[in-house]
Amino acid sequence: MHPFRADLHCHSSFSDGTDTPEALIDLALEKGLSGLSITDHDTLGAYPQALDYAQKRGLLLLPGIEFSAYFQESPVHILAYAFRLKSEALLTLCGRHRKRRFERNLEIVQRLKGLGIHLGEIKGEGRPHIALALIEKGVVGSIQEAFDRFLGDGKPAFCPGKTISVEETLEVIHRAGGRAVIAHPHLIRKQSLLRRLSELPFDGIEGYYAKFSPERERKYLELGRKKEWLITGGSDYHGTNKPFSSLGSSWVDEKTFYTLYDHFNEFRSQ
Ligand code: AMP
Ligand code: FE
Ligand code: FE
Ligand code: ZN
Repeated sequence: MHPFRADLHCHSSFSDGTDTPEALIDLALEKGLSGLSITDHDTLGAYPQALDYAQKRGLLLLPGIEFSAYFQESPVHILAYAFRLKSEALLTLCGRHRKRRFERNLEIVQRLKGLGIHLGEIKGEGRPHIALALIEKGVVGSIQEAFDRFLGDGKPAFCPGKTISVEETLEVIHRAGGRAVIAHPHLIRKQSLLRRLSELPFDGIEGYYAKFSPERERKYLELGRKKEWLITGGSDYHGTNKPFSSLGSSWVDEKTFYTLYDHFNEFRSQ
C-alpha cells in the first residue's frame, strides 16, 4: 500500500498539457497517487466528465483550475479548488479568458509576422501551442527557445491581451465557493509584490513545487503558516510540453487533500 499522496497541479489537453484527462487519471494511478486535481489554464473543459472517469477508476479527483491574472502589471497565477462547477460567475470568467486568448493570439501572430515569421493554423489557445507552431516551421528548436526569443513575458512577440486582475479573480473564486491559492510563488520575482499580494484574501499558497530549492520551500511554508493558509503542492505536469516535471513529483498529504475535498463534497451536486 502506498502512503496517501495527491498532486494538486497538472494540465490536460484542454489547456496546454499533452495528456487527455483520462490519460492523466490513468497515469496518476500508475504513479501510486490517491488524489489528483486537474488545473487547466482558465478552463473547466475537463469537468465534469473527468469526475466520472476518476470515480470509475477509483481515484479521488478534486475540481481545480489555474487562472492567469495580473497584479500591478505583473502576471500572477492563481489556483482554485473545490468550487461549484456550475457557478455562473466562474464560467463567465472562463469565457472572458477564452476571448482574451483568442484576441491576444491574433496579436501575437501579427507581431511574429512583423518579425518575418508567417505561421499557419495554431492548434490550441496557449502560448505553448504557438511555440509548437514555431518548432514545426523550423524557427526554433524547442518550446523553451520559443519563449526565450519570442513568446515569454516582455519578449518581442508577447501580448497579454485584456488582462483580468487578481482582486477580481479572487472575488469570483470565492463567489463560486472555492479556495484560492497563490501558484508557484517563485515566479513572483519582486519580494515587495509578494508582500502586497499576501495582504489579499488568498486561502493558500503552493508551498511544494518540484522546482523549489529547500530555502525557497522554507520561505513559502513560513509565509503560509504565518497567514494560517492552506499549503498546497503539485507538479505542474504538462506532458511532453514540459518534459522535466513528472506527475506526482510534488504532492500533498491526506489531511490537506481532504480539507479541500470535503469542502467540495458539501456542494458536489450543485
Ligand atoms: P498562456 O497561458 O497561453 O499565456 O501560456 C502560459 C504557459 O506557457 C504557462 O502556463 C507555461 O506552461 C508556459 N510558459 C510561460 N512562460 C514560459 C517560459 N518562460 N518558458 C517556458 N514555458 C513558459
Ligand atoms: Fe501551462
Ligand atoms: Fe502557472
Ligand atoms: Zn500550471
